[in-house]
Formats: sequence, structure tokens, C-alpha cells
Amino acid sequence: MTELQTTTRSAEILAAQHEHMFPCVKPLYREPLVLGEGSGVWAKDVDGVEYLDLFSGILSTSVGHCHPRVVQAVSEQVARLGHTSTLYVTEPQVRAAEKLNAITPAGLTRAFFTNSGTEAIETALNLAKIHTGRSEIVALRMGYHGRSAMATNLTAHASWRPLATSIAGISHAISPHSYRSPFGHLDEDAQAEAFAADLDEVIRTTTNGKPAAFIAETIQGVAGYVVPPKSYFARVAEIIRGYGGLLIIDEVQAGFGRCGEHWFGIDHWGVEPDIMVMAKGIANGFPAAATVARAEIADSWTAKTISTFGGNPISMAACAATLDVMREEDVPTRAKLRGDQLRDALDTLKAEYDWIGDVRGLGLMQAIELVKDRQTKEPDPGRTQALMEAAKEEGLLIGLGGHWGQVIRIGPSLLISGDEMAEGILRLNRACSRVARG
Ligand code: PMP
Repeated sequence: MTELQTTTRSAEILAAQHEHMFPCVKPLYREPLVLGEGSGVWAKDVDGVEYLDLFSGILSTSVGHCHPRVVQAVSEQVARLGHTSTLYVTEPQVRAAEKLNAITPAGLTRAFFTNSGTEAIETALNLAKIHTGRSEIVALRMGYHGRSAMATNLTAHASWRPLATSIAGISHAISPHSYRSPFGHLDEDAQAEAFAADLDEVIRTTTNGKPAAFIAETIQGVAGYVVPPKSYFARVAEIIRGYGGLLIIDEVQAGFGRCGEHWFGIDHWGVEPDIMVMAKGIANGFPAAATVARAEIADSWTAKTISTFGGNPISMAACAATLDVMREEDVPTRAKLRGDQLRDALDTLKAEYDWIGDVRGLGLMQAIELVKDRQTKEPDPGRTQALMEAAKEEGLLIGLGGHWGQVIRIGPSLLISGDEMAEGILRLNRACSRVARG
């Protein structure tokens, strides 16, 4: 009965999507899911089939679908004042900046709000260029930073870079990817040193020696949750600042307690960036993003700039409410607890299945990488896709990633309970055994 309904209603909407939208918008799954409603970690498709959501719309519904406090804040704001543009000052925007300021690294006291991670990245890059009077940027291979011309060029995955869109002035250093690194045989500190040395060489050999900034995700998300070695960020901060450039950290995926114990991913490396970018979980899925910077850096932008929708009162009300819930619920501690629960389960799966080559991540940002052979580490995107489909059959939403589509990414609501996580683990176990049976 349910099966039949799913096909009918979803099929109708999918046909309309196919007819009216750009084909480059590619949903997950052989038969894409048409979600219609959600509550906490649960989401339902338009025909009422329920899923346990361990991906939270790409780590965005940070306190769960339709959190009542966020719903209330948005509903009240939309009835009061829906739009002003940045030509006017609004209280929701200022309050959101204050609340952000309370959790960002101490020196990063100024915020600029936009609607998406991409725009926040653009803001960070422009700010770094304006402040330094320089134009060249160094990024990381396997990094992902968005879909504007500049962000696409920072992004270093061929499949995310459309033809004929290349722009100059961007170089890429090696990804600090221990599992897939030519330095994998070295110990952690020596690996960090080797990755940092590559950044130094890239600056010396592929730039004019005066870079405006080095930009990196704390944990490379799209690449499949690549966690750099412990001393990596201290070393690269030293290097880029040695050349007179700024350190920009992209916390779009890793931010807001997701990595456990701290508010931001970079806190785990004990480094304070010059500029930081955040989006996704900042407003529980509402279109909001922020670029934060030290005051003297923000002050250098004296030319006019405007954002019609940036800092929109509705998104800012969602942002302020989300930040309140996060603080009250102490999400860094919760993410550490639930992250450990998840990590134990993933390590157990790795012990059971030899096609799981690597388990990695921090807190509630955990991934498993699928390989055809543990020795050669040949990626297995086919089996990864099969696992995605099997999980869906088990009523479980998980994410796909990795340069070859060989990584399963897990990143649920930061408020997930122990029982909900246990249920998710049970479903993932069943999906894995389905895939193992072939
Ligand atoms: N940076 C990172 C690390 C991201 O993962 C993303 C989105 N996947 C972006 C930037 C771009 O964000 P948006 O899609 O909101 O433009």
C-alpha cells in the first residue's frame, strides 16, 4: 500500500522536476527521495514513508527538523517584519551577531551575514584581498568551497568544476589526507610537516610569493571527512603568515559544536584563524551564512557593499534561536558523547567488513571509506552507492562523499538522543549486511 503511494505521489513530483529544472541538479538515489516533512531526526517523504535522518540535509538541520524554538522565532518574525536589505539596521541581525560573537574564537569579533556558504566564502576572499592588497589565494586539493566562479575555482574536485569557468590566481597544495597521502607511512607529526612543506613549496613555486590568503576546511567535508594531523594547522598558519598572508578557515561543515567538545572544528587544533566562514547549521537550515573576522581586518573594507537578502530578519531570527538552543543544550558535549557512540559502532563495522578501508571524523562528523582492497585502497564507489540504496531501504538517510563517491558521510542533528543513535546504528548494520549478501 505504502509502496504504491510512494511511487505515485513522488513520481508525479519527480516528473515535474525533470521537466522544469536544470538537469545538473542531481538528487541522491536511483529513485530520488521527495521529502515532505520532518521533526527532530525523523523525515517523511510525500507519501508518508518515514526515515531516520543521519545526514540532516548536509549537516544543516543542526538542532533537528522543525525545532519548535526555531519554528516559533521564524513564525513571529515573518509576521512582524520580513525584509529590509542591509540598507537598514535590524535587531535580529545584531542579536545574531552578538550570539555568534559569544562562541567564535576570541579575536574574531566582526560578522558579515549572507545567504549561503558560497557567498560567505566570496566575502572572506574579497576581505583578505582588500586587507592585504594582494590577489593570489592558495587552497587545498580535494577542498570544496561552493559554486560561484571564485568558489568553484577554489574547489579541487574535477567533477564539481564545470568546463570553461577557470580563473587565475589560485593554487592548490596537497590535501592533508593521511589515508590517501604519499606520506602515509610517516608518523602524524612528520606527515603534518610534509603537508606543510608542500604548502610552502606551492607558495614559492606557483604564486608571486605574496599570497593574500591560504584557505582550508578544518575537516574536508565533500572529500569524505578528511581530518588533518594534529600539528597541521599550527604549521600552515605559521607559513602563510610568514609570507604576509591571512589564514581563512572554512567551518561550513565542521562548525557549531559538530566536532564535539569545542564550538568550532579549528578549536581542536588550537589555532585562531584571521577570517572564518560558517553556514549550513548556523540557522538550522534557513538560508544564512556568516563571515567573521578580526576587527582590524573587517575595518579595511571601506568600499561600499550591499546584500539585498543578506542578514534577512527571518533568517537571523532562525540563527539567533538556533544559537540559543545550541548553547542551552550544550551541543559540543552532546556531539562528543553521541559521536563516540557512533564511532565505536563504525569501528566495529570495519572489523566485520574488509571492504571498509577507513573510519574517520570527529564528534558527529563521521565517515567510512569503502575500498575494493585494503592493500591497494582502490576506491569502491559501486558498493558505496549500493550501501546508500540499502540504507534507504532500511529507512535510514546517510550522505555520500569522497573524491570518487567512495565515502559514506554521517552527520545527524546535534540533539540526537542515545536511543535514536542506537536505532540508526541498527539500521546501518542491517544495510551493511544487505550489501555484504550482494
Ligand atoms: N564550504 C564547504 C566546506 C561546504 O561544504 C559548502 C557546501 N557543501 C560550501 C562551502 C558552500 O556552501 P553553499 O552550498 O551554502 O553555498
